[in-house]
Amino acid sequence: MYNIAIAGAGAMGGRIGTQIKEAGYNVTLIDYWDEHIKKINDDGLEIKTETSTYNVSITAKKPSEVNEQYDLLIILTKAMDASAMINALYDRDAIKASTAILTMMNGLGHDERFAEVVPKSQIFLAVTMWTAGLRGPGQLLLEGSGTIELQRADGEADYRTEEINNIFNKAGLNSVISDNVFISIWSKATLNSVLNPLCTILDKRIGELGAYDRARDMIQPLIEEIVAVANARNVDIKTDDMVHKIEAAYPESTQGLHYPSMHQDLHKGRLTEIDFLNGQIAKYGKDLNISTPLNTMLTHQVHELELDYV
Ligand code: NAD
Repeated sequence: MYNIAIAGAGAMGGRIGTQIKEAGYNVTLIDYWDEHIKKINDDGLEIKTETSTYNVSITAKKPSEVNEQYDLLIILTKAMDASAMINALYDRDAIKASTAILTMMNGLGHDERFAEVVPKSQIFLAVTMWTAGLRGPGQLLLEGSGTIELQRADGEADYRTEEINNIFNKAGLNSVISDNVFISIWSKATLNSVLNPLCTILDKRIGELGAYDRARDMIQPLIEEIVAVANARNVDIKTDDMVHKIEAAYPESTQGLHYPSMHQDLHKGRLTEIDFLNGQIAKYGKDLNISTPLNTMLTHQVHELELDYV
């Protein structure tokens, strides 16, 4: 039987895992959080939506309890925990030569880090517009709808891309196969690298950030740095498009009322994904001889805040 594991079964892992399970597939959740795993195994994962609350019966285990191999392994830890997770599963012999390893984490460079463990031909990248929240151990809040775009990380065609796309669509996840997933990855990473650190450092909701009448003067130079790095890596995104994408998030009718996930993480006392957003952009910039003082500064400022909150 086709065997699927979701490694990192928090908000997003829980959403993707339960939707695929409900579509009739064999799915295991893999996580480190004891209380969460126990609750899932005892009662199922509780899903609260806009209209109902119900439980999905699904197996959860720790990496140390894994004793099977997977055809599809979806990594949905936070970015800073992904390398440890993939290494732990590799050590458990959960990854075979044909395993497709896919991630839809936010941030940049996941394929390069995964390639330290498995061949690049096994790595698939996805970008998702789905969202999810955790209400507590074993309890998800699933609102709204979304999409997924995916491609093998090296751009090569592969029967497994179709296979994964079909699974996602059977699970109602609105998936398409991309012919250049890096454009969407960098577009989302640009949005996140502007809104996440600025709202976190300034302690503002997205709409409050945009209410400042010269907000564009502040965000445009930051976007220009990111676009210069993306373009040097042959990812064709444009500053004007990115400015408009970010400004479209300001109204209350879109994301204006929300604090970005980095702000939420910090206020829950958790480390942020800053090193995989602005930090990774600064790292790429250094390698390419492109100066990224704004991204470097924001990375340090968020790390300073982590010292106070985490
Ligand atoms: P999450 O914090 O819900 O879960 C990540 C991991 O942290 C899981 O292993 C989870 O079990 C663990 N965890 C969560 N709360 C914990 C607690 N109180 N104690 C101990 N462990 C705990 O993260 P997420 O939101 O699912 O994000 C996973 C990845 O997906 C990230 O890269 C994120 O940026 C990306 N993403 C998230 C969303 C979203 O709406 N949540 C949307 C798109 C992309």
